[in-house]
Amino acid sequence: MSTTNEFPGTGGLILNEPLLWHKGKKGRIGMSIPAGEVPAAAIDPLLVGEPADFPDLSEVDVVRHYTRLSQWNFGVDSGMYPLGSCTMKYNPKTNERQAATPAIAAAHPMLADELCQGTLRLLHELQTYLAAITGLDAVSLQPAAGAHGELTGMLIFHAWHRHRGAQRHKILIPDTAHGTNPASAALCGYQAVAVKSDERGMLDPALVAELMDEETAGIMLTNPNTLGLFEERIREIAAIVHAKGGLVYGDGANMNAVLGVMDAKRCGIDVLHLNLHKTFSTPHGGGGPGAGPVCVTGELEPFLPVPRVVKEGDRYRLDSDRPLSVGRIHAFHGNFGVLVRAYSYILSMGEAGLKRASQLAVLNANYVKERLKDVLHLPYDRPCMHECVFSDLKQQAQKITTLDMAKRLIDYGYHPPTIYFPLVVHGALMIEPTETECKDDLDQFIAALRAIVREAEEQPDLLRQAPQRTKVRRLDEVQAARCPCLTGPSAV
Ligand SMILES: *Cc1c(COP(=O)(O)O)cnc(C)c1O
Repeated sequence: MSTTNEFPGTGGLILNEPLLWHKGKKGRIGMSIPAGEVPAAAIDPLLVGEPADFPDLSEVDVVRHYTRLSQWNFGVDSGMYPLGSCTMKYNPKTNERQAATPAIAAAHPMLADELCQGTLRLLHELQTYLAAITGLDAVSLQPAAGAHGELTGMLIFHAWHRHRGAQRHKILIPDTAHGTNPASAALCGYQAVAVKSDERGMLDPALVAELMDEETAGIMLTNPNTLGLFEERIREIAAIVHAKGGLVYGDGANMNAVLGVMDAKRCGIDVLHLNLHKTFSTPHGGGGPGAGPVCVTGELEPFLPVPRVVKEGDRYRLDSDRPLSVGRIHAFHGNFGVLVRAYSYILSMGEAGLKRASQLAVLNANYVKERLKDVLHLPYDRPCMHECVFSDLKQQAQKITTLDMAKRLIDYGYHPPTIYFPLVVHGALMIEPTETECKDDLDQFIAALRAIVREAEEQPDLLRQAPQRTKVRRLDEVQAARCPCLTGPSAV
């Protein structure tokens, strides 16, 4: 690998860092305060329990420890993070600042409606914007994540069928779906029935017609789907499901591809969740908090979670008097800070800006796809939306896998793309560049992957031993997940 500054990866000054427990020395202290006049008294252990086993540390110890740990981190603020299905795009800092505005950040969730008209207005306007963006009629901002939105959607399906007097117990879910879809359906008591996608990566309406029956509550589909392809026959599919008395759930996690382009209601979708932390400017590499608002048609509005934020004249209030509602699914207003970021992002982008963001996200993904498809196998060779899915088929002769290439990308200074998902592509390598990467950075990323493909042919062992420039090499990920050992290895 080149030692010039061709790629962002570096073997540079990444300092070692022991655990604070190994660093502490009895008697060290992080502050100096004048001796008090009050005599010391023993604390009754019955009142406070055993003292915690915290190490004794100086201020310098603590500051360096956390600063160093933060430098081991990788995020969208440090480099390209092309993790497919996750929309790891740059989140403008102005949205952080709006969310941290004291009047907003310190608003107490238990204030009476008349004392928080501004907060309620913000929530109401965000609901209105999200309805306009999706084409649907009513929105609940309560769910805390995409999967939570899915669960809320399934509860709405359940409540709607119950209201119509006939409960159903199955739900159709395409084989390209995100794992959270069948999990959310199962949590709600539905049995997931898999629908195979065809050789073009599309759902076949004929197959849906065959599987859809009076026992089936509806279908849960993702559009664009997790192959990064637009489900072209979604309206036909929705019509089939509706004709048999079912509902259509849209997983809107991939909305970054179709802002201002796709109208979910006209596609036949009845319930759709959005991932504000993916599409609308909340950093989410660390796993939370997020928000998964649920958007529904007018017919399903009565089933949305309570309380609803409603507007009467020029006043806003919370309304819980909704007898058909699925109930409350999050404390207070959901993850309010995430909602503020989304509100700020939507206002700063405007309608034209949001549409442009999606167009650029799609352009970038197609650019990456076209520039790599001669060296990486592209199972579905057609225009993609915001992400493209390759496989390791061409590297099989050298016995190089997707995992090897992903690990090697770390040496070049990139967060690896999503790997081995979607499950329908063997050895999948799913790249979502997002709209916030410029052409120069995309070219550099493409050059890195092309160099890795060359290494696979010429020096395959280099790839099998990757990553080499990181603090730790290949971890036993199964062991790490099953037996997290937070105190070792102490030599690190
Ligand atoms: C991310 C994602 C989800 C789940 O969203 P969370 O906020 O992580 O719960 C669901 N479906 C798809 C397609 C996704 O990409």
